[in-house]
Amino acid sequence: MSQTLAIIKPDAVGSGKAGKILAHLEDVGFTVKALRLTTLSREQAGAFYAVHEGRPFYDELVHFMMSGPVIPMVLEADDAVARLRETIGATDPAEAAEGTVRKLYAESKGRNAIHASDSDENAAQEIAFFFSRHERLGL
Ligand code: ATP
Ligand code: MG
Repeated sequence: MSQTLAIIKPDAVGSGKAGKILAHLEDVGFTVKALRLTTLSREQAGAFYAVHEGRPFYDELVHFMMSGPVIPMVLEADDAVARLRETIGATDPAEAAEGTVRKLYAESKGRNAIHASDSDENAAQEIAFFFSRHERLGL
């Protein structure tokens, strides 16, 4: 078993899709190990997506991520990182496969319903960004 981080983004929380997305993630086999609802400050949103700093969409991305409540969560499964990326689909919902979370619930490439870590290394960093060791492991 391994862990990854998902965030239900402000568009999906705001349009009342969080419950459906959570159910979808559980239905495909993920176990929720930690979860909370929070609103990111500008500093938090900027730091979380710091890897994209300088890209043309960075300011829009940070503004969007602080525009309303988000639901970060730690998900566990076999091969969790790759499996969650497959479950959420391509960044742009127009290119996402049928049945993926983004195909079902995302509005656009910018407002795309959910984030997922893209490597085990980034998953560990992103999990630690939101949750204490106690929260994610129950120790
Ligand atoms: P995420 O990191 O949110 O899971 P991703 O890994 O599929 O998404 P990234 O390349 O990491 O995609 O981009 C981070 C986010 O930045 C995307 O989810 C999207 O909301 C936004 N983004 C990326 N490229 C563009 C773009 N060309 N125009 C607008 N927004 C973009
Ligand atoms: Mg990414």
